[in-house]
Amino acid sequence: MALSTRTKVLRLRTDPSGHRIVVAEVERDGERFEVKGNSFVLAAGAANTAAILLRSATDRHPRGLANGSDCVGRYYMQHNMSAIMAVSPVRVNDSIFQKTIAINDVYLAGAHRPYPMGSLATFGKLLGPILKTARPRVPLRALQAFARRSVDWWLMSEDLPDRENRVVVDAGGRIVVHRRLNNYTAHRELIAFARRMLTRAGYPLVLHQEFGLETTSHHCGTARMGIDPADSVVDSTGKAHDLDNLYIADSSVFPASAANNPSLTIAALSLRLADRHFGPLDNRIVQ
Ligand SMILES: Cc1cc2nc3c(=O)[nH]c(=O)nc-3n(C[C@H](O)[C@H](O)[C@H](O)COP(=O)(O)OP(=O)(O)OC[C@H]3O[C@@H](n4cnc5c(N)ncnc54)[C@H](O)[C@@H]3O)c2cc1C
Repeated sequence: MALSTRTKVLRLRTDPSGHRIVVAEVERDGERFEVKGNSFVLAAGAANTAAILLRSATDRHPRGLANGSDCVGRYYMQHNMSAIMAVSPVRVNDSIFQKTIAINDVYLAGAHRPYPMGSLATFGKLLGPILKTARPRVPLRALQAFARRSVDWWLMSEDLPDRENRVVVDAGGRIVVHRRLNNYTAHRELIAFARRMLTRAGYPLVLHQEFGLETTSHHCGTARMGIDPADSVVDSTGKAHDLDNLYIADSSVFPASAANNPSLTIAALSLRLADRHFGPLDNRIVQ
């Protein structure tokens, strides 16, 4: 087995039957070549996995590969997300590696609300130069003074799978993302909840910044998992419904975004896929 770095997958090609992928067309340092294989595992992230499948359209697969359901690229999600700085004039936060604290008290519906609001967790310590990128007009010294007295939180609420929120590839081959916000009331309420809680905890100044389409760090959903081939791209193990030897092992298979960090779920699904289709994990560990 070989790992090919700096190598971009352009498209996947099937055999004449259209049921099996036989070649990945790739580009490395300006040179194009083909990679052959028996099985193909796509894990290019929610935007690029969908784009590769869409760019691989042929007469047999006119809407793109693995796209009999017309779901490839659709149901794009990325969380409703905000950052909060809770600032105290009297407490200095000199953490270098901020300890992670997560609060899931309003993750589920309950007495507080008939619907879930989401989760919040501390993230790596904000510093003056980081803040400067978001607030270029504010003097660095002022930003440093804030950062020295802040505890910093990342807020996440679930955005819901909407068929019209989608990744497409335009005529020039570029990826275009269409997204309209949904479930945002819950996110605004999560922000208000966090503000109240942090003020009560002794941080009189609570600043927040909401993030939109420019923050794609948690994107997912564009090759959704499901048991119905008419309404999903991969089955419950990650194998494409429409092809005999295509598997997807990234966040694009998420049928819902939940309201928590995605990486461990991606890893768990990928390990399960590998175990199910390529044999027990123990047999594949290279010493
Ligand atoms: C700043 C930041 C902080 C984050 N913090 C957290 C966190 O604390 N906890 C958490 O759980 N998650 C976090 N995330 C989210 C997490 O990193 C992603 O959800 C996760 O990496 C997605 O995994 P993936 O396999 O779907 O895609 P990716 O990790 O994006 O992997 C896709 C890979 O495919 C490659 N690729 C794309 N297109 C092609 C192509 N055409 N040919 C070849 N290769 C291609 C890319 O270069 C990349 O290496 C964070 C993300 C960011 C950006």
